[in-house]
Amino acid sequence: MWKSDGAVVKADYLIQGGGAVGMAFADQLFSDTEATMVIVDRHDRPGGHWNDAYPFVRLHQPASSYGVSSWPLGTGAIDQTGLNAGFHELASGHEVVAHFDAVMRHRFLPSGRVTFLSSSEVNDDGVVTSLLSGAQRRVEYRRFVDATHSRMQVPATTPPPYAVADDVTCIPVGRLPAVAARFDHFTVVGAGKTGMDACIWLLQQGADPDQIRWIVPRDSWVLRRGNFQPGAEHFARFAKSLADQVTAVVECDGIDDLFLRLEAAHELARVDPSVTPGAYHCAILSDGELAELRRITDVVRLGRVRSIERDQLELEQGSIAARADSCYVDCSAAGIPSRPSKPIFDGPRITLQWMRTCQPTFSAAFIAHVEATFRDEDEKNGVCRPIAPATVPLDWLRMLAVQLDNRRAIGTYPQLQAWLTGTRLDPFWKTASERIGVDKEATAHFQRYLANAGPARTRIDELLAAPVG
Ligand SMILES: Cc1cc2nc3c(=O)[nH]c(=O)nc-3n(C[C@H](O)[C@H](O)[C@H](O)COP(=O)(O)OP(=O)(O)OC[C@H]3O[C@@H](n4cnc5c(N)ncnc54)[C@H](O)[C@@H]3O)c2cc1C
Repeated sequence: MWKSDGAVVKADYLIQGGGAVGMAFADQLFSDTEATMVIVDRHDRPGGHWNDAYPFVRLHQPASSYGVSSWPLGTGAIDQTGLNAGFHELASGHEVVAHFDAVMRHRFLPSGRVTFLSSSEVNDDGVVTSLLSGAQRRVEYRRFVDATHSRMQVPATTPPPYAVADDVTCIPVGRLPAVAARFDHFTVVGAGKTGMDACIWLLQQGADPDQIRWIVPRDSWVLRRGNFQPGAEHFARFAKSLADQVTAVVECDGIDDLFLRLEAAHELARVDPSVTPGAYHCAILSDGELAELRRITDVVRLGRVRSIERDQLELEQGSIAARADSCYVDCSAAGIPSRPSKPIFDGPRITLQWMRTCQPTFSAAFIAHVEATFRDEDEKNGVCRPIAPATVPLDWLRMLAVQLDNRRAIGTYPQLQAWLTGTRLDPFWKTASERIGVDKEATAHFQRYLANAGPARTRIDELLAAPVG
């Protein structure tokens, strides 16, 4: 273990980025080792983009399996009211930030093993620069952990990529609660999870659907929240979802047919069943949220916005008349942009990426556990093949391929399975070990999954190799 000595800070691990991913990695390493760590972030607090999020943001997955492994998030309550009724609670943005803040203040810093250099930037050479004073110091480290690979883009910190005339009101989504009462009409620009959240927020606050115009450059496939509910009583549905995914892959006669099968099996959904989606970003919606979005009828599908004039809207595929009094709500930031993957373990460098689909904090904690308990780099990378985040529907299939490879590799290590049983970030592994063989329905689905997983993996290669037509 290295110790800090004045101007040069020494640590076993230098972690660039104290967002959700950097924190989940640090937390698991903290549990598994005696290592010292320096975490550097441009923000003044841990939590990354959650610090910049819009006031009404919520996780779209259950709080109980998000964040760091050692520290609870939420109470495990089931929502009794609202569009998430019957499902596990979704933490608010404030709760997510408070979670990471508590881990930093109550677990990391008092130990003396973790140093947090806030409002600072670190480059690849380990030089840390204070964003306030410009003062620099160097960190000597054994391993450099890049926890910034996701390059998250959120509206608060990403200016709109289109021109806006001076006499038009265009706000980042975060300002919507403060100004909404002043407007009679809203144009929501963007159809990712943030755009969906903005539309749902307006409707839930009492806006009439006729007061909303929704600019949808590309429709998305979305995941259905009912398939991801933790707990024994929901396990059969989760097992069915696993089985339906691989069965659809094996039985489909092409990509278009695959997505129709996934929709028919209630695995994926789309807001407008008459439109073929051109996007997929792992967004998760409840049936109630889908029903709300379907109430909006003024949906513009002419590609991305190019410019907004007071009475005209210029889009990639044409111009349309616009209401002069509309409040434009910018939700166009990419969220998690698509970036090429790289090996997670590469000499002294660890680049945190997903190794389980759409699960950044689970993936970061798993990678930390592998780092702490494996020695051989090929073995480490063998159970942590990186999964590039999704942007287009075909990515659903690409991600499944890597996920199946990782699952198969992990299955050969009993110690990794033991970890999966113990971490709260995997809401299903422990339940699976308790329910399979006991719950007849879940067991039948699970056996169907096992029978189809291998053939599905082979079929994915065929489907991806086929010319896209
Ligand atoms: C609306 C919304 C809802 C979401 N809901 C879910 C959900 O339900 N479940 C889920 O799993 N995911 C969800 N996500 C995805 C979510 O973004 C990820 O879970 C996660 O927060 C990404 O964290 P990150 O650490 O990769 O990135 P970030 O949050 O961007 O953190 C990276 C940090 O690195 C810092 N940084 C960058 N470069 C440097 C540098 N050179 N020096 C120092 N610091 C640097 C940045 O300041 C930043 O704080 C959601 C995302 C959004 C936008």
